[in-house]
Amino acid sequence: MTSLFDLTGRRALVTGSSRGIGLALATGLAENGADVVLHGRDQTALANAAATLERVSGRAPRTIAFDVTDADEVDAAITELEAEAPIDVLVNNAGIQRRAPIAEFDLGDWNDLVATNLTSAFLTARRVSREMIGRGAGKIVNIGSVQSQLGRANIAPYAATKGGIAMLTKGLCADLGPHGIQVNALAPGYFATELTKALVDDADFSDWVAKRTPAGRWGRTEELVGTLVFLSSGASDFVNGQVVFVDGGMTAVV
Ligand code: NDP
Repeated sequence: MTSLFDLTGRRALVTGSSRGIGLALATGLAENGADVVLHGRDQTALANAAATLERVSGRAPRTIAFDVTDADEVDAAITELEAEAPIDVLVNNAGIQRRAPIAEFDLGDWNDLVATNLTSAFLTARRVSREMIGRGAGKIVNIGSVQSQLGRANIAPYAATKGGIAMLTKGLCADLGPHGIQVNALAPGYFATELTKALVDDADFSDWVAKRTPAGRWGRTEELVGTLVFLSSGASDFVNGQVVFVDGGMTAVV
């Protein structure tokens, strides 16, 4: 019997999958049958991630390096990948974090956040949608954040990019839904990665996360996989424009 969630024969590009959440998501997609393309900028990290994924899934993934903030690099990379085989699933995961009180927030950091967390998703979706429209099918999953729902000090610019991701997702649903393409967002709560290292190391903050989350703890990156597999598979063909929070209940309670 074929599973609704089976990704065999589907090719998925996961941006920022050389480590952290992206690597966990790519691994989960591969374990469910997808041909995964790993992505990052650092070639050594990419090679290590590819070795990890091959150990787990038994298949060596394609890897590709490009800067998600550079329109020419994005266009060239997606053109190169599409020439080999269609990208059926695009996961916009690459992202950065910068923290500071707003009065001291550096304009360069604001620009980096917007470019890496938001413009990147516009660039990749714009390029890949041209191919997906031609095929009349495709899945785009944007990685958002609980910060699009919670007003918290020191991260207003980051939160603004993730709010932008939520609305980009809905707008792309309107643009691309008529072409048989689903665009949804997966919004994680708090997960221990390089991006959150300073928070994990801060015992008070780490305890606050656990207390603020009905689940009573931080998330484990593998706990994001089920929702991504759903949003990447035929099981979600009538789900479009949604932001799905995978946060242990954090955004459901005050
Ligand atoms: P990490 O810092 O662990 O990983 C970030 C990844 O993005 C790396 O692979 C990095 O590769 C890549 N990347 C960053 N900038 C660029 C760029 N300009 N071009 C290409 N690749 C880039 O972060 P996480 O795994 O924690 O975060 C992944 C996503 O999840 C982000 O969008 C983040 O906002 C989101 N998120 C994370 C949460 C958490 O608790 N960790 C919570 C909610 C959302 P390289 O260094 O080689 O460029």
